Amino acid sequence: MARINPDFTDELKKYGAFDLNACYNCGNCTAVCALSDEDNSFPRKMVRYSVLGLEGEIKSSLHPWLCYYCGECSTTCPREADPGELMMSLRRWLTATYDWTGLSGLLYKSVAASFLAFLFLAIMVVWFGAYESFHLDTIMHFGHYFEMLAIGTVLLLILLPNIIHMWWLTLYKPGTKAPISSYFTSLGELIVHMFTQKRTLGCDENRLRWFEHFVLVLGYLSLLFTTVFLNWFESRNLFVIILGYLESIIIFVVTFDFVRRRLKKEAEISKHAHLSDWLFVIWLFLMGLSAFLVRLFIDAGLLHDNLWLYLVHLIILVQWALLIVPFGKWTHFLYRSFAIYFEHIKKTAGD
Ligand code: SF4
Ligand code: SF4
Repeated sequence: MARINPDFTDELKKYGAFDLNACYNCGNCTAVCALSDEDNSFPRKMVRYSVLGLEGEIKSSLHPWLCYYCGECSTTCPREADPGELMMSLRRWLTATYDWTGLSGLLYKSVAASFLAFLFLAIMVVWFGAYESFHLDTIMHFGHYFEMLAIGTVLLLILLPNIIHMWWLTLYKPGTKAPISSYFTSLGELIVHMFTQKRTLGCDENRLRWFEHFVLVLGYLSLLFTTVFLNWFESRNLFVIILGYLESIIIFVVTFDFVRRRLKKEAEISKHAHLSDWLFVIWLFLMGLSAFLVRLFIDAGLLHDNLWLYLVHLIILVQWALLIVPFGKWTHFLYRSFAIYFEHIKKTAGD
C-alpha cells in the first residue's frame, strides 16, 4: 500500500515555487505536454502524486527527469498552479533524495549554508596560497593536480553511489525485471542523450535553447579535457593554446546569454530561478572567463605580477568542483541522462 507523507508539499516548497493547492485536475497541462501519451499523463501524474503526498511513488519515478522545462504546461494552466516549476522542484528534491551525504538538500534549502560553504572554500584556497608563500608556480601546480583529484574523488565517492541509489529507487525497488543484456544494449541512449541532450527537441520552440545547451556541454567537456589532460595553462603547443581559448570563449559567451535571458525573464523557465540555477550559470560563466584571462595573462607575461587572478580562478574552480558539480544543478545533467537510460531499460522489461 502506498504511504502518504502529509508534510510532503511543505517540504517540496523549500525546493521551488508553485501553488499545488490551486490545481483542480483539469488536465490542460497534460493536453499540451509533448511528453504525454496514453500511458503517461505528463505532468499531471506528478502533480497528483505531489498533492497527495505520495513520496514513495515520486522517488521511484523517472518522469521528473524526462521533462525539459519548456514551460507550455505552466503557460496554459488556467489556475496558475505552475506545473512546469513543480517538475523542476521535484528534480531538485530527487537530487537531494539520491545524495547519500545529505549536502544537496542542505545547500538547496539553505541560502546561509550555501554562502558559508562557498566562503569556507574561498578561505581555504587563500590560506593555501599564503601557506605556499603565494608562490605562483607551486599554486598552479597544485591547481592542476586538484582538478584531476577532484574529478576522480567526486565521481567515485559522490556521483557513482548516488547514481546507484537512483537505480535502486527507480529500477530495483519497484521490481523491474530487465535482462542484464538490456543494460548494455541501452548504453547508446545514455551516451547520445548525455552529449546531445536531444530530448529537448521534443519541445518545438526550444531549438535555440537546445543548440546553446549542446554547444555549452561540448565546450565545457572539451575545456575540462584541455585543462586537465592537455595541461592548457602550461602548454606551449599552439593548437592546444588556441583550442583552450576557443572553448573558454564558448563557455562565457553562452552562459552570459543564459544570465541575460534569466534577468529578462524571457522564457517560462527563467521566471522562478532558484539560487542553485543562478549559481550554476554564474559559476560556469566565471570559470570560462577566468580561465581565458589566466591564459591571456600567461601569454602576455603578466601573471607573475598578478597572482590574484589565478587565485580567483582557483577559488571559482574549487567551489565549482566541490559544491556545484557533486551537490548542485550540474548533477541534473547526469541524472537526466541516466533517467533516459533507465527508462529505456524499463521499456525493454515491458514496464
Ligand atoms: S496543473 Fe493546472 S492545467 Fe494541470 S491539471 Fe492542475 S489546474 Fe489543470
Ligand atoms: S515543462 Fe514542458 S515538458 Fe515539462 S511537463 Fe510541462 S509541458 Fe511537459
